Amino acid sequence: MFITPALAASETFNELLEVLKQKTACMKLKNLIYIFTTALVFFFGIFIYSSLHKAHVDFAQNQQNLYKVKRLRDLTEVFQSALLVHRLKRISFMSDAITQSEILDAEKQVRLHADALVLPPSDKSATELEKQTHEMFNRAKFFVYRLTANDNQELSAVGHLMQAQLDLKSSYYITELNKLYFLYVYNTTLSDTHSYKFIESVRLNNRLTLTATELIDQLVDIKTDEVKRNQSYLRSIELIGVLDSLRSRVDFIIATAPDEAQPSANIDELLNKLSKESMQHLTADLTSVMQSRSSNAFDGFYRYIIGIDKASAIFVNNSYDLELHELEKKISVSRVQLYGMISLCWLLALFIVMPILVFSSKISLWLTLTNKNIMKLSQGDLDISPDNSIMTGELSAISDAINQLRQNQIEKRLLETEKQELINELLEASSTDPLTNIYNRRKFFNQCSQITEDDYPLAFCLIDIDNFKRLNDRYGHDVGDLALIAFSQMLEQSLPKSTVYCRYGGEEFAILIKYENMQQSMRIIDVVRHRTEMLSIAIPNKPSVGFTISCGLARLDDYQNINHSIKQADEALYYSKKRGKNQVSFYSPNGFISFDANDKNG
Ligand code: GH3
Ligand code: MG
Ligand code: MG
Repeated sequence: MFITPALAASETFNELLEVLKQKTACMKLKNLIYIFTTALVFFFGIFIYSSLHKAHVDFAQNQQNLYKVKRLRDLTEVFQSALLVHRLKRISFMSDAITQSEILDAEKQVRLHADALVLPPSDKSATELEKQTHEMFNRAKFFVYRLTANDNQELSAVGHLMQAQLDLKSSYYITELNKLYFLYVYNTTLSDTHSYKFIESVRLNNRLTLTATELIDQLVDIKTDEVKRNQSYLRSIELIGVLDSLRSRVDFIIATAPDEAQPSANIDELLNKLSKESMQHLTADLTSVMQSRSSNAFDGFYRYIIGIDKASAIFVNNSYDLELHELEKKISVSRVQLYGMISLCWLLALFIVMPILVFSSKISLWLTLTNKNIMKLSQGDLDISPDNSIMTGELSAISDAINQLRQNQIEKRLLETEKQELINELLEASSTDPLTNIYNRRKFFNQCSQITEDDYPLAFCLIDIDNFKRLNDRYGHDVGDLALIAFSQMLEQSLPKSTVYCRYGGEEFAILIKYENMQQSMRIIDVVRHRTEMLSIAIPNKPSVGFTISCGLARLDDYQNINHSIKQADEALYYSKKRGKNQVSFYSPNGFISFDANDKNG
């Protein structure tokens, strides 16, 4: 089957289309994988972000709690020591065991504690919590001062009559201090089981010391105030009941606290102080205080209160230690979580960024090479090597396209070479005479038109073979052809290389030669004439054949006047024929000049 170039091209195109279709299917699968991976990385990123956020919040929360528990411990100490001062003053009404200097010492201590409590917020960058704490502790300091000052007045100046009024004030300050205290405790963000037990321990301690303080107040009233005596007695019984009920709170804390949070130290002592036996002893002592008003019975109370105060202080201190330890543990855990999450973030970033970096550096190399290749192709340099290392659909398609382009360019160049060869052949054919293989008349005039001004003047010569019709008739057309070929070859050998000449038509030839003077031009042509005379055409089984030529010359000064020169040369040729042929004549305005043999020799 005959395959046209167009058919071949369409087949190549269809093949290319088929390959591209297969590639598109591959690319769809790849895109699905890309989408899936991107979604995975996205969700992983969200997970890491939320975990990082949680770890950060936990870390900040635990640090805040640590600060709060530490400050709470300071507040507890101040509160407890303020209550102790208050109790000492009250007890000093009835018992000589408490000296004035003991009270003053305790008072000094509580003020020192209270002053230390109110630390100025470190700087402008103090947190909201630090500012709140500072404000709250300022108020606590105020109440502690008023409480101790109130008792001083009571002791030194006012006297027994004003006691009731002063009691009221003291209880107001204690209540306010207590309220402030619990406000701070409950404002905490401590929320897990461990912290709950801790808060219970702090509350228990407060209830114990407050109840003990009030019990002392009531006992002082029983001893010193005849009017309030019975009422104070009943209130004391109630307070012993409160102490009794607090035992079950201790039991609750022990039963529910996790092992590592057990406030075990001296818990037995506290339980002993709150035991049924202790309560019975207290009740018995209360009865004897009512009956005898002796200071012995009161001393029993006093010892009990000192004891329970101590046990409770140890208990609550232990709770603080455990809580602080637990919080430090939580902080280190959340710090580990935080750093872990930050590391994971970096890993994720590396996981995403590294392949992108590697891929983009490959793409950059690919782009550089591809750009170079395209530039080379555009400049016609087909010596390229497209980079096929990147197998992503779109880029490899571009590489393929460049390869295809290169192939097309190679084919195009081949076709162009063939075409040029064909054109050259056609040009050759259109400019040369097929028989003699010298220029034809068209090419001759084309060459003449390109002669520069410097080459003038020239001589135009027309040559005609003499009696050629007779030669044809006598020896045949083939011999005539051989004569034409032999003459052309002789011309080529006789004339200088740059001379322009042609087969002018039939058995006529034209030559352009340099004109120096008339004689010199005719001499050149006469050499041609003479050599023609010498030519002989060999004919098989027959004697060889010779022939002559007649020549006419005319001067040519400008190509524009070539027709004029042709006409003159033709006339000169006619003159040569007329004078007997086989000779050279030159046209001159004064008549024709024949080449003279004498001149030839001379
Ligand atoms: P004269 O000396 O006056 O020029 O006479 P002549 O016979 O040469 O002149 P004429 O013009 O009568 O004859 C020219 C002949 O040349 C006629 C033609 O047949 C012959 N001829 C022209 N071209 C060719 C060719 O290519 N091959 C051959 N063999 N003969 C040719
Ligand atoms: Mg002729
Ligand atoms: Mg002739």
